[in-house]
Amino acid sequence: MHPFRWVPADGGRHATADVRLAGAYATGETIVALCARKVTVAKSTEVAWLWPTCAECNSEAHALAESGAER
Ligand SMILES: [Zn+2]
Repeated sequence: MHPFRWVPADGGRHATADVRLAGAYATGETIVALCARKVTVAKSTEVAWLWPTCAECNSEAHALAESGAER
């Protein structure tokens, strides 16, 4: 289990280490993504999950996963 989650936000799929205990994000909530952008969580529809993956979040997530997920 890595300390980040993917969330659909602002027209893309971003990863965030802003992990909630409940494991879910509220629609309209502002989170800080791994790309350091503040993004607004979108409604988690099937279409939202087809949005393009944020490239910076993707590389950050890979770096986290490869480093043994220490944060
Ligand atoms: Zn991002």
